[in-house]
Amino acid sequence: MSALKKIIRRAKRKRRQHHQHQEQGMAMDHQEGISTSKGDDVHKVVEGEEEISVVNHGINKKINKEVSYKLSSFWELPEYMKDNEFILGYYRANWPLKEALFSICRWHNETLNVWTHLIGFLLFLGLTMANLVKVPQVADLFGLFTSSVLTSTERNASHDSNYQLLGTIDLKQISQQSIHRHLAAAADGTPAARWPFYVFLAGSMFCLLSSTICHLFSCHSHHLNLTLLRIDYVGIAVMIITSFFPNIYYVFQCEPHWQFAYLGGITVMGIFTIATLLTPSHSAGRFRGLRAMLFTSMGLFGLVPSVHAGLVNWSNPKRDAILYYEGAMALSYLMGTAFYVARVPERFRPGWFDLAGHSHQIFHVLVVLGALAHYGAALVFLEYRDQVGC
Ligand SMILES: [Zn+2]
Repeated sequence: MSALKKIIRRAKRKRRQHHQHQEQGMAMDHQEGISTSKGDDVHKVVEGEEEISVVNHGINKKINKEVSYKLSSFWELPEYMKDNEFILGYYRANWPLKEALFSICRWHNETLNVWTHLIGFLLFLGLTMANLVKVPQVADLFGLFTSSVLTSTERNASHDSNYQLLGTIDLKQISQQSIHRHLAAAADGTPAARWPFYVFLAGSMFCLLSSTICHLFSCHSHHLNLTLLRIDYVGIAVMIITSFFPNIYYVFQCEPHWQFAYLGGITVMGIFTIATLLTPSHSAGRFRGLRAMLFTSMGLFGLVPSVHAGLVNWSNPKRDAILYYEGAMALSYLMGTAFYVARVPERFRPGWFDLAGHSHQIFHVLVVLGALAHYGAALVFLEYRDQVGC
């Protein structure tokens, strides 16, 4: 028998043994519930380009075999990836970074988690650019509803007959009004400081991008998984902290001591939250509740300056517009948190929502919607300070 035949036969025998081992492992898992793990080796079976080099009569021969990466079931996962037992299949486990990167265009249970926040990131990047290069039409285009609510609030305040037909949204008309408002602001005097607005935009982009990277690459290894998860949590905390900056800065622009107290308070709270999230032992799935509580308490802290601002500025003509936006934001974030914690709807039909419709995807969409609503409110604040100053 030639050396080549021997090597091929040995490789086939090894693979047969490996499959048997895998099947036994899976059977054990089904018997013992979901608590056992067979380690990382199980998932390296049919991955990549398998190369067997053989030396036969002094001639090097390469046998290349193209095998695509297969998706795993929940029971096949290494222990560190077993986060949601209601999502049963379509997992990527221990994939190389290159394969994980290209999986952005493949269907698996993280595809929509990646894309929902990648699109959100691009949206906020576009808004930031539009504001930086001063294209009010584009900046306001995303805040279409902003202009609609804003103008109807102004209409109520002024009874101006020009605004009587604004019950329906007219893009052209709104764009002209936006330009008019910006020109008027420029003519009135010094515009309000922009940096708190950009702090919020930067915080949102950081959160959305770190989430995208986390969902794309956390399937690579246990170490990277832990690191990326922590960065993802820190991203959420940063987004919440930076969201306070435009509101508090513009509302209390004429009372710097309140500005300092509230922005200082939320920053200290944020640093405490980030330190807690970076503690390795708090990254585990079972601390889902603790993380949600930390994020919610930061959000609830915002009630203090909000109530204060509401009491001081109740007669402000922009009041209704801001309340609509911040109400929409609070509702989006609270609903998102509820889905995240409850793991609905997959809890009721395990395996049905693996690819689309599971709680984390709904949470992602609600986070983007909440951030957009907050962007709308920040625009209203900014325009108000541009117009009236301090
Ligand atoms: Zn996520």
